Amino acid sequence: MRATVVGGGLAGSEAAWQLANRGVEVLLIEMRNHTPSPAHKTDKLGELVCSNSLGGAGINNASGLLKAELKRLNSLIMQAAELSRVPAGGALAVDRDLFSSYITEKIENHPLITVERREIEEIPDAPVVIASGPLTAPVLAEAIAKRLGKDSLHFFDAAAPVVSHESLDLNIVFPQSRYDKGDGVYLNCPMDKEQYLLFIEELLKGEGTHLHLEGEKNFFEGCLPIEILASRGVETLRFGPMKPVGLTDPRTGRRPYAVVQLRQDNAAGTLFNLVGFQNQLKFGEQKRIFSLIPGLEKAEFLRLGVMHQNTYLNSPTFLHPTLEWQDDIFFAGQLIGVEGYTESIAMGLIAGLNLARRLQGKELFLFPRTTMLGALSHYVCEAEAKHFQPINSNWGLLPPLDVNERIGKKEKERKRELLGERALRDLDAVKEI
Ligand SMILES: Cc1cc2nc3c(=O)[nH]c(=O)nc-3n(C[C@H](O)[C@H](O)[C@H](O)COP(=O)(O)OP(=O)(O)OC[C@H]3O[C@@H](n4cnc5c(N)ncnc54)[C@H](O)[C@@H]3O)c2cc1C
Repeated sequence: MRATVVGGGLAGSEAAWQLANRGVEVLLIEMRNHTPSPAHKTDKLGELVCSNSLGGAGINNASGLLKAELKRLNSLIMQAAELSRVPAGGALAVDRDLFSSYITEKIENHPLITVERREIEEIPDAPVVIASGPLTAPVLAEAIAKRLGKDSLHFFDAAAPVVSHESLDLNIVFPQSRYDKGDGVYLNCPMDKEQYLLFIEELLKGEGTHLHLEGEKNFFEGCLPIEILASRGVETLRFGPMKPVGLTDPRTGRRPYAVVQLRQDNAAGTLFNLVGFQNQLKFGEQKRIFSLIPGLEKAEFLRLGVMHQNTYLNSPTFLHPTLEWQDDIFFAGQLIGVEGYTESIAMGLIAGLNLARRLQGKELFLFPRTTMLGALSHYVCEAEAKHFQPINSNWGLLPPLDVNERIGKKEKERKRELLGERALRDLDAVKEI
């Protein structure tokens, strides 16, 4: 049994490890030391490109739960993280050199793994896992787009914030589509003139990050950050994403002065995104300013807006939650539309495990949706394709607790504990992996 893995980052290294530990001979192809990447600084496998934190560590944290699941499945990268851990409060932070050195050593010394350093320019022959990451080299990106279709690949991450449905003030927020037309109902946060002007004023004062892209010239006109739209004139947003036309506030019977529309973000209806609210404000500023929106005063922000370069696939249009595209070709890592180190590792683990099962003649494995692994893999493959944006692990992805387990809205911590316990119980109950 043989397989190829493209990309020796977090996902590719994990996929190779999972394959090799199931008896598959792996050829891992990494371009660094032959062709540099725009962000990596070393030739090591599993290099962290930016922060040295892999996020929350405890299972009362969504990313922490994902880590607990990965550890149960003998994740190489989790092993490396534990061994190179540095103190960081509730987070799992690592000494980045120790971390990637450990991964490199384990991969290079595995008797079933061969590492080759070269740039791949076409999707290799199956069986293969492609995990070339958010900075996939342009020639390969073009080859993937050619095989999957021209709208299959996004090169730019313009994610709007996401809030949990249960944190909205439903006495203010009302459901309606413009002119009652179209598919799906939006939730609308109505604003009067005073609220709108205050919001614009605070938006213009908001501190930005502008980390990854410099200047307005880099943005697509149809996808501008809201603070840039606001800077073009006080009315610009009211004639753009915040236009109130075709909407009637049931509390007043009138059209609001402006609205913020929320669009359903997952099939369960537990997550909603703020339509057109991609932005480059600092996370703290986003929470402060967006909490001024009527109905969002107590909103729980499960993802905040970002804008940066990021190559990712429109996975809902072609990928299965087992992470197979077709005929033994699997995709993994950030490339499939997850966001973050731990999430990328998780998607490497699923692809590696499933390709190994395929080669062993076993049925591909679908992780239960109640686990963070299952919730994430289902989300990226089943979200609404038209508006698909990368996601990180968050509690809103998990199905609600059973009715007899439900607890009050205020007991957030207890609820997370129960969701975490359920996830690990359901994962432990799985016999086949
Ligand atoms: C600039 C930047 C900063 C980020 N900062 C953070 C952060 O602080 N925290 C966080 O949680 N997430 C961060 N991310 C997001 C993401 O979690 C990481 O990018 C993560 O490394 C993704 O893992 P991956 O395995 O999918 O991709 P990578 O770790 O990037 O691995 C992909 C590998 O494929 C190789 N490759 C690419 N094309 C080819 C080719 N054609 N042939 C052969 N090899 C190829 C690359 O050299 C690379 O080693 C950041 C992303 C970027 C781009």
